[in-house]
Amino acid sequence: MIGSHVRAFRCRACGYCCYRNKVWDSYLAVDEGTLAKITGEGIEDITKNICTTQNQVKQLKCSGNQCSFLNKNNLCHINLQYGYEYLPDACKSYPRIIGVSTRGLEISLVFLCREAIKTIISQNKITFSDEKLTDLILPNNYHYELSSDDEYDLQLIKKYFEFLPKAIEGLQNRCLPLKQRLLILGEESLRLSECTETINFSATSIRDSLGILKEIIISRIGEADTDYTEPYIDNLKKIRGIIDDNTLSLAEYLRIKETFIDREYDKYEYILENYLVNFMTTNIYFFNGAAFGYTMMMLLLASIQLFMAGYAAFYRRSLDEEIIILAIQNVDTAFFGHMNWFSSKITAIIKKHGICHSAKMAAALGQVL
Ligand code: SF4
Ligand code: SF4
Repeated sequence: MIGSHVRAFRCRACGYCCYRNKVWDSYLAVDEGTLAKITGEGIEDITKNICTTQNQVKQLKCSGNQCSFLNKNNLCHINLQYGYEYLPDACKSYPRIIGVSTRGLEISLVFLCREAIKTIISQNKITFSDEKLTDLILPNNYHYELSSDDEYDLQLIKKYFEFLPKAIEGLQNRCLPLKQRLLILGEESLRLSECTETINFSATSIRDSLGILKEIIISRIGEADTDYTEPYIDNLKKIRGIIDDNTLSLAEYLRIKETFIDREYDKYEYILENYLVNFMTTNIYFFNGAAFGYTMMMLLLASIQLFMAGYAAFYRRSLDEEIIILAIQNVDTAFFGHMNWFSSKITAIIKKHGICHSAKMAAALGQVL
């Protein structure tokens, strides 16, 4: 099932992802199909810029933080000179994340790319269709398949596939405010994961919820090791200040929210809904079970809301599209860095607190922030 926002995406060739996001790890790996075409046709200016990594992966060379094929006008030399089909799969698909699962192709977007965020603004409501992907994207080999070696619980994944369409429908039910829909989704996710925990909004519960969020933020801050994520991580430190009660108390944050966000919130709520719907179709959700996916989703939403208030207060203006774009891009970049979604350290924190307890805390957080 492909979301209308994924179909609506058009790359503006800004080059942002060619000198930051995609060049980490082995992400510029040249898949077998493309490599055969390039070597078969003897395209030397590409072959001489392919290196072999320690893991024997063939990938495009990078110089500094950027792909060596990004020209001085920030355009892709391979695409310009030879065409789209000579690009590595990552470049063909980015910022689309393609997963192959028992349900078929799952495609979502990562919001490190501003144009991707604009697609969830352009769609009043995301719709899904199972039309073929022809003309949208033709990946050669890039996929993520569940293998028998994966440690995921296949029964849980099966249950999740049955749950997903109903959960998305509930999330898009605009007869209720988004917060209320999220609370219902939290209860359903807990039930699906066979958790007996109940969500409550006592002061202790809220304190615990903020404590988990703070632990996660501190862990992410500790992982910042590239010039690319640094500014985003710096912003996370400011969020930690709110939770710490050092620089800004929660009460003060709520006052800022009331001043700058609340009046315009209803107008833009649909963008957050679309962000969440996109998240529900990522492999984070379906590979890890509903309570776990829900927890991660709510932690991201809580962070986005904190950033929205922070940016609005900084620019001293009411919530608008630009503030939402900044908040989403900041949170997705700070947490995901590149394509690795949540780091294993964040996963470990959630597991340490217990997935059910964390999901309950995350649900409470979503109601307060
Ligand atoms: S995918 Fe996004 S970030 Fe990358 S070049 Fe296109 S518009 Fe820019
Ligand atoms: S091959 Fe082209 S699209 Fe891919 S990272 Fe390099 S410059 Fe960007």
